[in-house]
Amino acid sequence: MECLWSGDPRVRVLLGKQKLPEEGEKIRLSRFVYFLYSEGRYLLFHTLTRKLLSLPPQMIDYFADGRLFSQDVLAREVPAKLYEDFFLVPESTLESQIYLELMDVLRLKEELPRGITQYVILPTTTCNARCFYCFEQGMKYRKMSAETVEDTLRFILRHKPKDRKRIHIHWFGGEPMCAADNIDRICAGLNKAEIEYDAEMTSNGSLFTEETARRAFEAWKISEIQITLDGMAEEYARRKRYTSSIKDPFAAVIRSMHLLIAAGIKITVRLNVDENNLGEAFRVVDYLSEEFTEEERKKLRTYAHSLFGQLGDGLNACPVDTGSDALEARVVEINEYIRRRGRMAPDMDAVFRLKTHYCMVTAPECNVLIDADGQLFACDAMPEYMRYGSVKTDIDPDAWKRVTAPCAVRRECGECVFLPQCTEFDRCPSRMAYDQCFRQEKRRLDRELRAIDAFYRERQNKQRDAVETAGGKPIQ
Ligand code: SF4
Ligand code: SF4
Repeated sequence: MECLWSGDPRVRVLLGKQKLPEEGEKIRLSRFVYFLYSEGRYLLFHTLTRKLLSLPPQMIDYFADGRLFSQDVLAREVPAKLYEDFFLVPESTLESQIYLELMDVLRLKEELPRGITQYVILPTTTCNARCFYCFEQGMKYRKMSAETVEDTLRFILRHKPKDRKRIHIHWFGGEPMCAADNIDRICAGLNKAEIEYDAEMTSNGSLFTEETARRAFEAWKISEIQITLDGMAEEYARRKRYTSSIKDPFAAVIRSMHLLIAAGIKITVRLNVDENNLGEAFRVVDYLSEEFTEEERKKLRTYAHSLFGQLGDGLNACPVDTGSDALEARVVEINEYIRRRGRMAPDMDAVFRLKTHYCMVTAPECNVLIDADGQLFACDAMPEYMRYGSVKTDIDPDAWKRVTAPCAVRRECGECVFLPQCTEFDRCPSRMAYDQCFRQEKRRLDRELRAIDAFYRERQNKQRDAVETAGGKPIQ
């Protein structure tokens, strides 16, 4: 048995080693153990402690579904270690309870700021593109009025954090650059009031000029922009269906990316892939590494994601993918290709650190979404039942009580291996269908674990080659 990652240190400290079971109690597999067969071994991942083990197949007996062991098994070295680390637990353990208590402590330790620090703002829902997969299809197109812009600014100032000054704004839309004047006004107000803030934006990237790129960095304090590229020029134009008179939209976006990077802004390129543009995704990756200089590429990150379908509501935190397992396997391949080309390590923190807040609804006191009408939402999918006031009338106390009412952990979630990395929030609109949420989490974790496994194997191979090159002696 090999330990590939020792888990989240915060969880390790809080849980310690598992106490021995009561006399006579049987032992079973923890509900939070996820396992995956990979290259002749099993990867075992504990979704609460975030510990990752690699096991030879003959040991997988300890994990056969539903098997109960007597305590004698703890006399053996491997099961004793697995028990100590919560991979095996006493039969009667209420693991969802342990999870909830642990989360409470971790969240308490984080000491949330007093005041709103995280904003998602839609300065408009209009857009100059018509992507066929846009989750806002069917929404009314409207730009925030001048009055709502002023109310938004006043709302931010009224709710500014008392203890920690810095706030963060995520400009979303529609295409936020279709309402650059609204962003100008809100940022000018914040700058005048000497509010400390930083920002990011999700944009199609087609509307930047040298001047707006500079303004985005200097006056709007944007440090990062996410731009979607679904293919090279022809495929890109076909999928984006721009309505404005941009002659060559692909060239326009690439030009914007150069300008934004030159201004100091980092770009994340998201490749939305489905069965019809897989080859295009590889072409875009090759193209980007030739088009951008080594220096520029330091501010450029690319990743592929399977395209979420019409069932998907919400922004970044909660995309629901409806793709097939075959498609997910190709997405892993593309991301592996990107990683190798950029000689990058996978994002270990994203996998091995237990998230204390899955999404904005677990900390509504400091997160809010403001739509183009100035309505306040506690959930970024903006369902009506999560609306709790407006920037004009402020927070409605009754609606606030409703959206922040404690929720019970659903029965499916309480028994689900993914609970520690998912949301137990029982009103989440993207988690209503059990089969779908489970498949989505499974795909995501499979994708991450396979990428990490590939990275470890590659590193081991390199070390072995280096030892062989050095005539069998380890290189110092
Ligand atoms: S929402 Fe679905 S995937 Fe998430 S913990 Fe509940 S059952 Fe599991
Ligand atoms: S409750 Fe669900 S849809 Fe809403 S922000 Fe959280 S994950 Fe996204």
